[in-house]
Amino acid sequence: MTVRGTDTDVLVVGGGPVGLAAALECRRAGLDVVVVEPREGAVDKACGEGLMPGALALLRSWDVDPPGHVLAGISYRQGPRHADHRFRGAVGRGVRRTTLHAALAERAADLGATALHGRVTALRTRPDGTAAAMVQSGRAPGPPEPSADDAATGTGTAELTARWVLACDGLHSPVRRLLGLEAAPRHPDARRRFGLRRHYRLAPWDDLVEVHWSPSAEAYVTPVAEDLVGVAVLGPRGTDLDATLAELPELAARLAGAAADGPVRGAGPLLQRSRRRSLGPVRLVGDASGYVDALTGEGLRVGFAQARAAVATLEDPAQYERAWRAATRDYRLLTSGLVRAATSPVRRAVVPAAARLPGVYGAVVERLAR
Ligand SMILES: Cc1cc2nc3c(=O)[nH]c(=O)nc-3n(C[C@H](O)[C@H](O)[C@H](O)COP(=O)(O)OP(=O)(O)OC[C@H]3O[C@@H](n4cnc5c(N)ncnc54)[C@H](O)[C@@H]3O)c2cc1C
Repeated sequence: MTVRGTDTDVLVVGGGPVGLAAALECRRAGLDVVVVEPREGAVDKACGEGLMPGALALLRSWDVDPPGHVLAGISYRQGPRHADHRFRGAVGRGVRRTTLHAALAERAADLGATALHGRVTALRTRPDGTAAAMVQSGRAPGPPEPSADDAATGTGTAELTARWVLACDGLHSPVRRLLGLEAAPRHPDARRRFGLRRHYRLAPWDDLVEVHWSPSAEAYVTPVAEDLVGVAVLGPRGTDLDATLAELPELAARLAGAAADGPVRGAGPLLQRSRRRSLGPVRLVGDASGYVDALTGEGLRVGFAQARAAVATLEDPAQYERAWRAATRDYRLLTSGLVRAATSPVRRAVVPAAARLPGVYGAVVERLAR
């Protein structure tokens, strides 16, 4: 079913994990969907790569089951102190971003989603309430057709119309900016945080995600395969991955001698806010709709839940707003609170408090994992 007068029912801007999840939901709802993504192949990104149990459950609902390494819980560590919580129900999984991307993209293609290699550069609402996007394309496998002038180079700009647009274009969402939906961060610049990630070729030594707290940054370690471990470091502007590891002798000793696998990737500033999640036929979904921090590692779970909610409420933007708030409430409250503690003098008390209050620590982990 395609709404009359448009090229597709739904245009998904951004073929990251949330955009692909949204495409899967669209196909399940019988909607035609085009996913526009500028990057080719299996897309990589700075990410801790921990899929919480809730994220894994949503993936399974789409018949997506990427290989990885079991994650049985979360361990906060500072010097000799640690607070360990093992998930009470289903476990999570550490999955390489490229593996996750390949599995989602394959399933989306199987279900008939159209992948378009390109970048959305402009967006407008048409008088009939549908949307028109300018897509700067590479060699496009489907609509829009490049103009004759562009055919020689295989690139071009063309208009693609859709009944709805799901903006899944990430932390620094161009669509959010184009539509004026960006909200200023509440934090002063000094509290802004950034993320870095590198992989190491070695066998995982733990089935818990270890979060090592240095004086100014957190390094969290996720096993993603039988011979591969990811280390993501979160901290203020200028945080250096090796310098952070040098402050964490227990973790540095584990990694000593292991070969780095691939480059260091970075992301940030992490805190991003949107004024609202809907404008006309456009919905902001995933990181594009706002992001708090990676400290609690459940961006994917929350993004997948938003993708499901966005497709279920396409006809009713107010309902999406309510569903978005419900899907992100725990994440916004608990992660903001933890980041506030992590960026204040209370920081050094976080791990000792978690160790002293295992019931509270466990309840927070359970709440964020589902
Ligand atoms: C350091 C770090 C560690 C993290 N650790 C975890 C973790 O352990 N577990 C977890 O669940 N989450 C984690 N997260 C969060 C998680 O990575 C994000 O929540 C997730 O990637 C959001 O997916 P997304 O599809 O919304 O955005 P993205 O993955 O950023 O995808 C957006 C896509 O949009 C595309 N795009 C951008 N502009 C355009 C345009 N103009 N036109 C078309 N396409 C466009 C981009 O190329 C990109 O592929 C972490 C984040 C960071 C930074």
